[in-house]
Amino acid sequence: MKLDLSHSYAALPERFHRPAVLQPVPAPRLIALNARLAEQLGLDAGWLSSEEGVAMLAGSRMPAGVQPIAGAYAGHQFGNFVPQLGDGRAMLLGEAVTKDGKRFDIQLKGAGRTAFSRGGDGRAALGPVLREYIVSEAMARLGVPTTRALAAVLSGETVARERFLPGAIFTRVAASHIRVGTFQFFAARGDVEAIRLLADHAIERHYPLVKTAERPYLAFFEAVRDAQARLIAQWMQIGFIHGVMNTDNMTISGETIDYGPCAFMDEYHPRKVFSSIDTQGRYAFGNQPLIGQWNLARLAETLLPLIDDNEDEALELAQGALSGFNAVFQEAYNRGMAQKIGIAEVQEGDMDLLGDLLGIMAAEESDFTLSFRGLADVLEDESGAIAQGLFGGHFAGWEVRWRDRLSRQGTPVEEIAIGMRAANPLYIPRNHQIQAVIDAAENNDFAPFHALNSVLQKPFERQEGAEAFAVPPQRHERVLRTFC
Ligand code: AMP
Ligand code: MG
Ligand code: MG
Repeated sequence: MKLDLSHSYAALPERFHRPAVLQPVPAPRLIALNARLAEQLGLDAGWLSSEEGVAMLAGSRMPAGVQPIAGAYAGHQFGNFVPQLGDGRAMLLGEAVTKDGKRFDIQLKGAGRTAFSRGGDGRAALGPVLREYIVSEAMARLGVPTTRALAAVLSGETVARERFLPGAIFTRVAASHIRVGTFQFFAARGDVEAIRLLADHAIERHYPLVKTAERPYLAFFEAVRDAQARLIAQWMQIGFIHGVMNTDNMTISGETIDYGPCAFMDEYHPRKVFSSIDTQGRYAFGNQPLIGQWNLARLAETLLPLIDDNEDEALELAQGALSGFNAVFQEAYNRGMAQKIGIAEVQEGDMDLLGDLLGIMAAEESDFTLSFRGLADVLEDESGAIAQGLFGGHFAGWEVRWRDRLSRQGTPVEEIAIGMRAANPLYIPRNHQIQAVIDAAENNDFAPFHALNSVLQKPFERQEGAEAFAVPPQRHERVLRTFC
């Protein structure tokens, strides 16, 4: 079977990308192929797992017609602007177009150096490849917009990091790889024509409805703003810390991208940081909405010349649109958090109730996931034993107020509990479990990887024999730092 990819991004002018030169690896071996995703994309899973397919997924040999490119982008990294970053270890093969006309980038990560590699070997180690595979697929099952994992391949060579590690190549699927930093790349060069071409391309792909707006580029900005506000609200609802929210890691599509030093919290604290490079806590859990808005301000700056010819007018419109972020975020956050505690419609006082629960959880160092998940059991347990186990004695006052609030909904307790279990996952990709998967895989045992992946396909459904996957780390298992 042949592979049929489309190349709309490659058709943009030369300054948007550079050709990527293939750097074959010695012994490609398929670790995992996401056959279900392949099917959704209209790709032939059988061909992808064939010798020819795996050679492509390893970046060693391309089928006829596929000419990989590395994309240009810039970005603010920890607040400092870097005018040129770009795909230094990634190449875009092309786009799969589904039956219903949706377009998805197929990109290899770790397939070798490109024109944008600033030092670095262009390769990826097995650990980060498996982490991205597991976490991005888990996010998808949790209902969070995200890039997806199509495949992971061992390269057969080692890569030099703090020590020598097995090398691997990851195949990422994204609605697109256009980032805030892609716009910044051209803004930094004063290339308004390119900004317009890029905006038109992004509008066509992600927000075609804005074309009919009175000010299409302002409406485009608002659409990105809304997508990001809702995305970050979802992160906050599952205890996800992205870890490196640089503007080059924020998509225009509104998908989560770049699973480097990301982490799901075990015990709750709003200032939680895992990333080893985030020494100031810029990207701490509770800062994420603020940083999202900061990044969007950087996007708005690049769009000013398209918004209005009059600079003052453009600035005023952009600032007005930017200030709309809070309302969109709060609405999405409040609604989602209310659902987690069984409240169908947010009323006055509900967010105080939620805030008090989070306060107890922070003080008690309660596990974020299991606390919310356990509330449904608390609700159905008249004895108080489950509440005692989850929150100690500090919960009784809150529980009375909460039950009183829920009773006013007039919905049977069992029904509320079902809704809560559908809003609170039991299984999340915990750091210590991912670490155990990586340790085993580095010793050529991929069974734990497949087992974890399989459980995370149904995060809201209690699965027999999967008890261990729901358990927070023991003291000696705790992972306190994550690395890119
Ligand atoms: P990433 O962590 O993939 O978002 O990369 C951030 C920046 O560092 C991008 O410009 C990458 O191209 C570059 N980079 C990261 N890792 C490597 C590597 N192993 N080789 C070359 N460039 C890299
Ligand atoms: Mg990145
Ligand atoms: Mg990264």
